[in-house]
Amino acid sequence: MFDAPHTYLKQPPLCFERRDPVPVPNPHMVVWNEPLAVALGIDYDTLSPASWAEVLAGTYRLPHSEPFAQAYAGHQYGNFVPQLGDGRAIMLGEVRDPHGRLWDVQLKGSGTTRFSRNGDGRCPLMPALREYIISEAMAGLGIPTTRTLGVIASSMIIKRPHTLHPIQPAGVMMRIAASHIRVGTCEYFAAHQEYEALKAVADYALQRHYPHLMEEARPYEALLRAVIHAQAELIAAWMLVGFIHGVMNTDNMTLSGETIDFGPCAFMNHYDPATVFSSIDRYGRYAYGNQPSIAVWNLWVLSESLRPVLEQPMQADQVRELFYAAFERSYAHGMQKKLGIAHHAEQTLWAVLTPLLTMMHACEADYTLTFRTLAELVNHDAENYAQQTMHTHPLWHGWVQQWRAMQPDTALMQRNNPAVIARNHLVEEALEAAVTPNDVGDMRPLHALVETLRTPYAEPQEKYRTQPPPKGSCAYETFCGT
Ligand code: AMP
Ligand code: MG
Repeated sequence: MFDAPHTYLKQPPLCFERRDPVPVPNPHMVVWNEPLAVALGIDYDTLSPASWAEVLAGTYRLPHSEPFAQAYAGHQYGNFVPQLGDGRAIMLGEVRDPHGRLWDVQLKGSGTTRFSRNGDGRCPLMPALREYIISEAMAGLGIPTTRTLGVIASSMIIKRPHTLHPIQPAGVMMRIAASHIRVGTCEYFAAHQEYEALKAVADYALQRHYPHLMEEARPYEALLRAVIHAQAELIAAWMLVGFIHGVMNTDNMTLSGETIDFGPCAFMNHYDPATVFSSIDRYGRYAYGNQPSIAVWNLWVLSESLRPVLEQPMQADQVRELFYAAFERSYAHGMQKKLGIAHHAEQTLWAVLTPLLTMMHACEADYTLTFRTLAELVNHDAENYAQQTMHTHPLWHGWVQQWRAMQPDTALMQRNNPAVIARNHLVEEALEAAVTPNDVGDMRPLHALVETLRTPYAEPQEKYRTQPPPKGSCAYETFCGT
């Protein structure tokens, strides 16, 4: 599995704390992500007679594994916290896939570390499974994301008062990521004026994610530009599928450009830029429509943190310009495909997209269903969802004519508008079945859902095609205190 101890251990000592997982009793493997295991070149049976359940439980240490917790800081809801760090995660090592790429292998829910503050270092089973579902949905949609290789349930009981499911078995999940270097990692060293460590981490990120930039005349500026670009493309991909991360704190933003930390995230139902699901996001800081500007803010924090090593400081305006140039290109290109009009010049997009979004907002049209069913209207006035929901809007008939005249490519639309997303009610239903207060329940609905989410552009079974709950009955909230 591991050829050598994790390369991050060569970083200055203040970057991490060596720490073993604190074992959980009676581990029981509830998820093994076989497609991911295959992609990584990992065979489930290779550990025999030890088992993966023992690895996740922290009772079997893989050869060459030297476990540690990473130090980082971060801005949470805009407030700087000088020390966060892995409070309930432990890095086990790095696996090299058949293409030669390195991936972090980390446990989450594996006990306390120096960074735990008042936390118990644990993760209840439901949020561990929720992360598995949503991250597989993201991977199925082709969006860069950290993923879950496996989840165990334990007989240990976790209490989370004031949440919907206050008593649950402890879960431990194994997370695979291109790396776990965050904006908050750079903030940590900048805030502590540890500029040698800051430089070392920047070099590490360059080597790991952007090795082609190492020979640049100004490599740290090149790194910053590359992260801005990667994050712009990531946020555009989120916006195109209606994904709301929910807690875009700087410690939850990677330098690799992968989605990380699936706490209170969810997919939007009816189109509304102000949509928020997180119960603690009272002011809507991380609402759907705010995500690009929050990303800019986070990236400006990154540029300020890198200032001591940057060849030339980057001004906030420049961060914003670089971000929006990449974001708008990526978003516009994605929208052209969603509307089947990629064969037209980009400037023609807005004349079609702006009124459509206006109508969707006014008519409370479901984001996913609208785009998915639009293709049916290319040649005839079928009685379909988009038509039913928006035909009373004064702009509708003119809009349909204008769009049809552009001769939309329906096959392109099918490939770019998912038929199924990880709808809140589907996710909840699967989790309710999978977890009881003191045991694992019926995992079949969860496995069936994940299977469907892996091919989101194919026509799903009727059950998954169901409409979202009508607005008003939809008091769905997600919880961060996981
Ligand atoms: P998150 O909200 O998951 O991004 O976590 C923010 C910070 O809180 C990170 O430093 C986590 O390691 C820490 N944290 C969250 N939950 C726990 C817990 N149950 N025990 C210890 N630390 C935690
Ligand atoms: Mg986090």
